[in-house]
Amino acid sequence: MRLIDGNAIAQQVLAEVKERVAKLAPVVPHVAFVRVGDDPASVSYVTKKQKTAAEVGMKASLQLFPETVTKEELFAHLDALNADKSVHGILIQAPLPKHLPETEVFNRVSPDKDVDGFGTQSIGRLVQELPGAFAACTPAGVVELLRRSGVETAGKHAVVVGRSLIVGKPAAALLLAKGCDCTVTIAHSRSKDLPGICRRADIFIAAVGRPEMVKADWVKPGAVVIDVGINRVPDDTKKSGCRLTGDVAYEEVAPLCSAITPVPGGVGPMTIAMLMKNTLQAARQIGR
Ligand code: NAP
Repeated sequence: MRLIDGNAIAQQVLAEVKERVAKLAPVVPHVAFVRVGDDPASVSYVTKKQKTAAEVGMKASLQLFPETVTKEELFAHLDALNADKSVHGILIQAPLPKHLPETEVFNRVSPDKDVDGFGTQSIGRLVQELPGAFAACTPAGVVELLRRSGVETAGKHAVVVGRSLIVGKPAAALLLAKGCDCTVTIAHSRSKDLPGICRRADIFIAAVGRPEMVKADWVKPGAVVIDVGINRVPDDTKKSGCRLTGDVAYEEVAPLCSAITPVPGGVGPMTIAMLMKNTLQAARQIGR
């Protein structure tokens, strides 16, 4: 079994991005973050993203809004960012408070600056396989991990469990696209015989959000397993009182696989690295 080291691969991607950012001078790629409320996980994610942007030589700005912000106020800010020629990428940290319609908010971002890849145009462009399409960062990270780990994808059967807009659907589109050329099955909470579907996977992507749901008898021996799940489970032995675990029961599944990502240290670090890659791409495409 080979461990796919997401930290090391993310560092490779970031080093390449940094080199290309330096070559863009005097243009400095600028990603604008928008955060609504003080959800601790969102605070931590945005702080990490800002720090990484600075490390690769990009500018990162942050606009904070209270939980009570109206859709109109938020849209006015997004319109200003869309019009601001010095801004190349815009990222609205999810989740948003319930009164804000997430899809409408994502669609308000100019397609040229949609570095999160959640807008209708980005998703359409991805499915149409148009050059320069922004792919959502986590699934783009999954494919980058496979590519950089030398996993052969053409003609392989990929099973993606999860059909969210953020992970499952774009992951399936990327794996299906020319270049990856997988045969793709997407499964979800209404799928029948999930273990049976999963056992047919040469490449298995778990993006569910259920701790250690995927057991050894769900996995074909020799499969490549990518665990996108990030779940916090109670653990008295930890100072924080909890530990992070994926959707895959790692201890029992790992010995069967040809390669597997750990949690943490697998897909997680790739998400930020791919955001930086998308921002660089936006700056190059906007070109100022
Ligand atoms: P989500 O929006 O909640 O979607 C979960 C998907 O899993 C849904 O499609 C759901 O099916 C399916 N599902 C739920 N229970 C199931 C079951 N028992 N059997 C089969 N399918 C089931 O979650 P998400 O945003 O895609 O995230 C998924 C996981 O990835 C989470 O653990 C999240 O924390 C993690 N994540 C990690 C990163 C990263 O950077 N590594 C980024 C984003 C997300 P239905 O559609 O039928 O409800």
